Amino acid sequence: MRANNDADRYEILAARSGEFSDAFFVGVKSTGIFCRIGCPARLPKRENCTFYDSAAEALEAGFRACKRCHPSSHAGEASAVIKKLITLIEDNPEHRWSEDDIKAKGIDPSTARRQFKKHFGLTFTQYARARRLGAAAKTLAKGDTVINAQLNAGYESASGFRAAFAKTFGAAPAKSDASPFFIEWLTTPLGPMFAVCDETHLYMLEFTTRKNMDRGFEKLRKKHKRAVIPGRTSVTDQIEGELKSYFAGTISTFKTPLAPTGTEFQNQVWKALQDIPYGQSCAYTDLAIAIGNEKAVRAVASSNANNGLALIIPCHRVIAKGGGLGGYAGGLDKKQWLLDHEKLHKP
Ligand SMILES: [Zn+2]
Repeated sequence: MRANNDADRYEILAARSGEFSDAFFVGVKSTGIFCRIGCPARLPKRENCTFYDSAAEALEAGFRACKRCHPSSHAGEASAVIKKLITLIEDNPEHRWSEDDIKAKGIDPSTARRQFKKHFGLTFTQYARARRLGAAAKTLAKGDTVINAQLNAGYESASGFRAAFAKTFGAAPAKSDASPFFIEWLTTPLGPMFAVCDETHLYMLEFTTRKNMDRGFEKLRKKHKRAVIPGRTSVTDQIEGELKSYFAGTISTFKTPLAPTGTEFQNQVWKALQDIPYGQSCAYTDLAIAIGNEKAVRAVASSNANNGLALIIPCHRVIAKGGGLGGYAGGLDKKQWLLDHEKLHKP
């Protein structure tokens, strides 16, 4: 039988084949535990089951690992070291577990890191963080509507944002061995932004007030088949430093390496956007002409709005033809502020 939908998945779960399978996992609402398929524990009621493609996804949704079946993202029995460490985490899930804590318990951190990575696709500290965020998000989240409302309104604090983020978007896609994206909250004079980076590139930079941000994350996650988890890399440090200088008016271009995530057409538009000099502006029609496709004004406008790298790909420099502000996904007040700021600091 193929597990195409939750009804099929529940049937497979109910069949209790006696063999462990890691094809998917079941989170049980009534107990807060997630299990492998084939767990000897009592069959949960259908209405209490949520199915996940990976252990990380279940963890980030706030479930803790079952002590009978030791669910993992990769086939294989959990080692004594893993079992011991998971017990430690479960005894104190709110604690910010570090490798020093492991050492203090007499376990070699590199062994723990390797075994966790193999078993769950996450290091020990990533596992502990996913579990902690899942627990926090569970108390915070009343449902997707609330989360989306908060995302649209912007967050007061980084921790609130992270918790909500992990709850809604932090899930690892199915069968992905790729390293995760790290999302971090950055403070700017125009309000908070978030940056999505890996070890080498910046993938997204947006104001938290941006509309439809959730769709942007979802697209990124699915396209690259990589989880998005809270955290930072040296690329995050670089863009954070450059943002400080940009807002101080001391730099007019960014050097952080960018990962192009668009279609060929979008990449062409984004390149043309980056050619608009700091402190200047142009109309959508100018941009369409610049890419040699005068008739593509609407497609240009939509590529402009969806670039995912606010400030760096300067869509704020594109205004309406009559001289009006035009639109800005991050908010028109921000657009005006940016245009004024650049005019003032134009070299
Ligand atoms: Zn179980």
